[in-house]
Amino acid sequence: MTVGFSVLRVNGRGARAGVLHTRRGDIPTPVFMPVATRASFRHISLDDARSTGAKIILSNTYHLLDAPGAAVFESFGDIHRFMGWQGAVLTDSGGYQIFSLPGERSITSRGAHFRLPSGRRHLLTPESSIAMQQAIGSEIMMALDVCVESTSDELLTRDAMTTTHAWAVRSLEAHTRKPRGQALFGIVQGGVHPALREQSAAAISALPFDGFAIGGLAVGETRSERETMTGLCTALLPAQKPRYLMGVGTPLDLVEAVHRGVDMFDCILPTKMAQQGWAYTFSGVLEVMRPAMQHAQGPLEPGCGCLACQSQPLGYIHHLLRVGNAQGVRWLAIHNIHHSQALMGRLRAGILSDDWDCLYGELRERLPRRLKAPL
Ligand SMILES: [Zn+2]
Repeated sequence: MTVGFSVLRVNGRGARAGVLHTRRGDIPTPVFMPVATRASFRHISLDDARSTGAKIILSNTYHLLDAPGAAVFESFGDIHRFMGWQGAVLTDSGGYQIFSLPGERSITSRGAHFRLPSGRRHLLTPESSIAMQQAIGSEIMMALDVCVESTSDELLTRDAMTTTHAWAVRSLEAHTRKPRGQALFGIVQGGVHPALREQSAAAISALPFDGFAIGGLAVGETRSERETMTGLCTALLPAQKPRYLMGVGTPLDLVEAVHRGVDMFDCILPTKMAQQGWAYTFSGVLEVMRPAMQHAQGPLEPGCGCLACQSQPLGYIHHLLRVGNAQGVRWLAIHNIHHSQALMGRLRAGILSDDWDCLYGELRERLPRRLKAPL
């Protein structure tokens, strides 16, 4: 089977609780996918990632092309056997990395020409991206797209969108190994131009993809633009297929997107925030490096079930960060990824109950707060 999707309940403006059915098990939605860029996580081990409750992770085709390369995945069978991860995997197509990483690149109708991290020149086409994702053996593959900055003018954004649409058709044609049960998602582009977003959502949803992603956001637009574009896309995407907002974002961004009908997310922010000494909590963002945390004997967040809160006092994590011990970032990363999972669980429970509006209002108010003292 490829990916199936059941919507259990729609609440409020369009928030959905559902189940994503994959060949590696059922995944409750909304769902957050931690990022394992090179088939490995930054700062945390695979066991740490498992302990956060993650059932699906994201890995980047762009990086895996370079190392270990397709041949290694072919010889191991797939990424699951290679890295020892039994859960589901989603692979991006490489489009976003080509856009976001430094270095020369050019896009032609044929594909994207760029340099890999090792310096090797490479041409990635819709067909070769699918071939690589088939070698990786992810449960969900993404079609190669062209991403541009949100601040790009309409002409440039339209060009990128038109190429994305042509590549979407080529990606579907290249998806020939269907018996392996891999799903393929299409990506809506269109920047922050409402007419282009509508055009792109209509064009991509008309194609027989297993799910639909909203790409090209969190790349320079305002929060209000991001929310407007997200709502515009979800209103046009098919109700019975999963919707994935790529690369977004803060806990508040996740809540706002779920409110507008998004089911799936990935983001590096939980790890990035950990590196900067910040802990996500349901009461706001805790500044762990502040001197006020030094004597805190309780956990980062009272009531949190993560490995860090179960075993380390806040004052000790503060100390590890102060002396530059890598374990400090590890504990914070575990807590932040666990928090993203717990947030999804809380949102899902809210959608399934009659309390959604109350929960939505409460989280909008609490999540962006900055906490300068222990909870
Ligand atoms: Zn915790």
